[in-house]
Amino acid sequence: MKFVVLTIFPEMIDPFLGSGMLRLAAERNIIDARALNIRDYAEGKHRPTDDKPYGGGCGMVMKPEPLSRAIGAASEIAPTAKRILLTPQGRPFNQAMAHEFAASDGLIFICGRYEGVDERICQELVDEEVSIGDYVMTGGELAATVIIDAVTRLLPGVLGGDESAAKDSFSGGLLEHAHYTRPYTFEGKSVPDVLMSGNHANIEKWRRKTSLIRTFLKRPDLLEKRAFSREEKDVLTEWCRRIEEIVG
Ligand code: SAM
Repeated sequence: MKFVVLTIFPEMIDPFLGSGMLRLAAERNIIDARALNIRDYAEGKHRPTDDKPYGGGCGMVMKPEPLSRAIGAASEIAPTAKRILLTPQGRPFNQAMAHEFAASDGLIFICGRYEGVDERICQELVDEEVSIGDYVMTGGELAATVIIDAVTRLLPGVLGGDESAAKDSFSGGLLEHAHYTRPYTFEGKSVPDVLMSGNHANIEKWRRKTSLIRTFLKRPDLLEKRAFSREEKDVLTEWCRRIEEIVG
C-alpha cells in the first residue's frame, strides 16, 4: 500500500517511517511510504507556503498553489490513492475506518499548519476530511502517523500470528482481555490460576469473560448496540447478581 504525506515538516515523518513495524513493513514491500515537502512545490525566493487570511484576523493560512502542485505530485506516485485532509473538523478516525483504509488503494495525507488550508483545496482536491479526535494540534503530521500506524498493522503480513489484529480491542466490538507475563508474582500479586492451568478452553472462556467485563467497566458505550450472545448475557447477569449481593 502506498502512503504519501504532504507536509512542511517531513523531518517529523521520516523517523517514524524508519522505525519499528513501519520499517519492517517497508522492508517486506508491504508498504511504500514517504513524505513530500510542500515547500518544494512553492515558488519564489523564499518559497512561501502560507499567507495572511482574507478578511483579516489572526494566524496564517496555507496557500493553495503549492498544495495543489504537491497533491498533483503525490497523485503521480499513488494515482488511485484517496486524498485525505487532516483536520479537527473531519470524520473521527476509529478502528472501523482503519479497516476501511486498509482495504483501499493507498492514502495521500495533507497536513495543515497554522489556521489550516485554503478552503478551495478542501473543496476541489480532497476526497475526505479526517480528524483523530476532538482536540486541536498545531499540525496534521501526528494525525498522519497515527492513521498510517493503525492501517499498516492491519495489512496482511505485518503482524505475527500471536499479535493477530482480529483479537485487538474494537475489532469484535469489545476491549481486549487482560495480559500477563513473567514473573508469576509481582509486588505480591499473582497471575490468575486459569492462565497457569494449561486448559486452553478455560483460558479462552476466561479471556472472553474479562474482555466483556472490562468493556462494561471502561467503555459501556461500546455495549449499547451489541447483540449479546447467551454466554455474554450469563456473564453480565452473574456480574450484576454479585454486585447486588455486595451492595445488599
Ligand atoms: N483553525 C483550525 C480549526 O479550528 O478547525 C485548526 C487548525 S490546526 C491549529 C492546524 C492543523 O493541524 C490543521 O489544519 C490540521 O491539519 C491539523 N490538526 C489539528 N488538530 C487535528 C485533529 N484533531 N485531527 C487531524 N488534524 C488535526
